[in-house]
Amino acid sequence: MKILVFNCGSSSIKFKLFNMPEELVLAEGAIERVGSEDALASLKTQHGRVEASQSIADYPSGFAVIKAMLLNKDNGALTSLSEVSACGHRVVHGGEDFGGSMRIDDELEKGIKAVFELAPLHNPPNLTGIKESQKMFGDIPQIACFDTAFHNTIPEVAFRYALPEDLYTQYRIRRYGFHGMSHQFVARRAAKLLGKHKYAVNLITCHLGNGSSISAVRDGHSIDTSMGLTPLEGLVMGTRSGDLDPGIIFYLQRKGYDTSSVDTLLNKKSGLLGISGSSNDVRDLELKADGGDEKAALALDIFAYRIKKYIGSYMAVLNRVDAIVFTGGIGENGVAMRSRILSEMDQQGVIVDEMRNDVHAGAEGEIQASSSRIKIMVIPTNEELAIARDTYKMSRPDR
Ligand code: ADP
Repeated sequence: MKILVFNCGSSSIKFKLFNMPEELVLAEGAIERVGSEDALASLKTQHGRVEASQSIADYPSGFAVIKAMLLNKDNGALTSLSEVSACGHRVVHGGEDFGGSMRIDDELEKGIKAVFELAPLHNPPNLTGIKESQKMFGDIPQIACFDTAFHNTIPEVAFRYALPEDLYTQYRIRRYGFHGMSHQFVARRAAKLLGKHKYAVNLITCHLGNGSSISAVRDGHSIDTSMGLTPLEGLVMGTRSGDLDPGIIFYLQRKGYDTSSVDTLLNKKSGLLGISGSSNDVRDLELKADGGDEKAALALDIFAYRIKKYIGSYMAVLNRVDAIVFTGGIGENGVAMRSRILSEMDQQGVIVDEMRNDVHAGAEGEIQASSSRIKIMVIPTNEELAIARDTYKMSRPDR
């Protein structure tokens, strides 16, 4: 059964074609810079990789290009669109209503629209992608997989802010959390690797990429996470500040910053980039720090320190922790960063084995020392596969 997974952003459409349940990737590609004269369309199949720069004005044109690429006789992956049995879509915000992946119908569409104002940059293009995919494939199941859904089990004590209740009831201001498909994927995989039932593990899952978040998982369910109403809260990120004193915003306003410049400052100019003054990329910063750049070294230290603090607080929340799991570009590959984060935690039962850590650059496995009470795992994430699995589960013929 062929399943096509879409991840539609404001200026990019990424897609991946799977054969399920074998989990075989038949094709993957992207349209980048949608809306520009020099958009880039790419496709990788068993026949190799093709790439072309062309003008792609909007989403409908982007989907037409995807269709042409997939059906291309020489290097495509399909002879007919009817081979695709279902499509899965990443949807960033599901609000409070969606605790799992759902088949898209008129009701669900209304639900996705209802939270547009909570994710104004993400949900509108996500929905446009769904509409285009419905037009392209006709009457096959279209499944929405929400980034917030895994965090739907967070209890009120953790999801409410210390604000008057009407801000929650009227404006839905609460912690939602993001990166759910990734946290769930690595949590399930960790359970399997630990030889435990998926609802029998307590974990701290660290998704560290350009956007970063961390979750406390009890009995396989998310019970707390670092991102909040928006993906700005929590860890230090590539260009986002993460947690800060809200008083800073008033102070900046008094200094003449307006709402949009504060928004840009905190989302685009802060984090690793803001502190280092030079880069949002951990690899660059490590090279710079090795060469004596003190600001780069400080950026890496602050990044690691924030994660350590969250790990400590989630250890307190969970009481028993089976494993700390690292994923995302930095979590999977950042050997030095993992050591930096977990340094001097031996009294908490967390000890990295440096040799094992080195060996697991981008590779799945355990990296704790034999004397470490808590396991430390590296698990490459695969959000597209997680979407393909949910889509398969919800649309297979025997369902
Ligand atoms: P996104 O959130 O955009 O998907 P990724 O998960 O791809 O981001 O992570 C990007 C980050 O991963 C960058 O900061 C990059 O420096 C970091 N990264 C990739 N490879 C390494 C590596 N070998 N060592 C340290 N960091 C790495």
